[in-house]
Amino acid sequence: MTAHILDGKALGARLRAGLAARITGLSFKPGLRVVRVGEDPASGVYVRNKDRAAIEAGFDSATVHLPEATSEATLLAEIARLNTDPTVDGILVQLPLPAHIRAEAAIAAVDPSKDVDGFHPLNAGRLAAGQPGLVPCTPRGVMHLLAESGVALQGARALVLGRSQIVGRPMAQLLLGADCTVTIAHSRTRDLPAECRRAEILIAAAGRTEMVRGDWISPGAVVIDVGINRLADGKLVGDVAFQEAVGHAGAITPVPGGVGPMTIACLLENTLDAALARRGMAG
Ligand code: NAD
Repeated sequence: MTAHILDGKALGARLRAGLAARITGLSFKPGLRVVRVGEDPASGVYVRNKDRAAIEAGFDSATVHLPEATSEATLLAEIARLNTDPTVDGILVQLPLPAHIRAEAAIAAVDPSKDVDGFHPLNAGRLAAGQPGLVPCTPRGVMHLLAESGVALQGARALVLGRSQIVGRPMAQLLLGADCTVTIAHSRTRDLPAECRRAEILIAAAGRTEMVRGDWISPGAVVIDVGINRLADGKLVGDVAFQEAVGHAGAITPVPGGVGPMTIACLLENTLDAALARRGMAG
């Protein structure tokens, strides 16, 4: 068996084009502000990519770049200013923040109706309660990839490898909401290979280079690799040993070019959703 490759780059581009078409029909430009504190180089690349994609799709997007020495109080005041700015529909605080600022304080300061990262406890709680709200971008992107794969979600055995607040947990909630039978595996899980082999849908989000081997994958399973790991030579690889996995999976995402582009597309999707919801317009 050779797995069908799920092309997140192409799907992300289609999603962004669809959003751009919807925005041309609006009388306003949805506003996105990405708040960056300090000079973390990887964050610089992410923030530029988000900004470029947003502007290309017709959003009013800008980065608020604050110096490394910014105090927590100053950052919270800046977020409060963006919360009350009527031209701003989505606020994203780029992580990681400098060590002297508590990420949870910054996340909790964002108006939940503008929380396009979906990290605010109110939105996390809504997701857990099965209520509508803003959903974290990466898991939302994975749901699009699963739809693209054509896999039937209802009743399917899904395994989520990783239990972080930004990927694993919300991912499991979305799959549960789609009627999958969900297992969450993590660093304390016993016999991980056996857990993986039971899965018809395997979402890998552990941040461990190629830890999921080919023979952990049930024949024909749909494998979504969220992991982004940089090797010493600069090459990016996922949490799944791709070359082995293509011989077992029915469909699989590559790294790069799988989940990554979907995350940015879903940030824009969340921003448009937030803009419409804030104006009382249906999404
Ligand atoms: P994290 O470190 O917060 O969480 C990792 C999770 O994996 C933890 O819950 C941990 O229990 C589990 N884990 C770690 N080692 C394990 C092991 N040996 N066995 C079983 N479980 C193990 O990471 P995160 O923020 O959730 O990100 C996970 C990965 O996804 C990272 O590689 C990250 O770079 C990537 N990521 C990609 C995107 C994207 O857009 N493609 C977005 C966010 C994160």
